[in-house]
Amino acid sequence: METVRPPLWITDEAGAPLLRGMHCSGCGADLFPPQEYGCIRCGAYGDRLRERDLPAVGTVLSFAEVHVHQSHPVPFTLAEIELDAGPIVRAALAPGSRPRIGQRARGLIVADEGDARLEFALAGEAQS
Ligand SMILES: [Zn+2]
Repeated sequence: METVRPPLWITDEAGAPLLRGMHCSGCGADLFPPQEYGCIRCGAYGDRLRERDLPAVGTVLSFAEVHVHQSHPVPFTLAEIELDAGPIVRAALAPGSRPRIGQRARGLIVADEGDARLEFALAGEAQS
């Protein structure tokens, strides 16, 4: 049986990506990805967690170049990005990115064989 999952991101009116996260009314934390287990900071669950779309904008915490992958063309760079809203996400960087720790990054929607995917582009670098 195939599991159907809701999309993890949408776009705003200007076409900028938003991550489909949650907000905890117990402690004020923004969370990503959405899940039903409860707030990772305070443990609140149920009605205390509400959907909240989080801007895909943040700061590079770490990165690694991937040389072996079963479906994505290699090499590519995977980064941990701390969103300005708080959660830390792992995402592919735009091809040719040369990241530095602490560099600003912004989500970017990329056409991918009739579909679309989200990757992050670094501040100060040309976008693909
Ligand atoms: Zn909380």
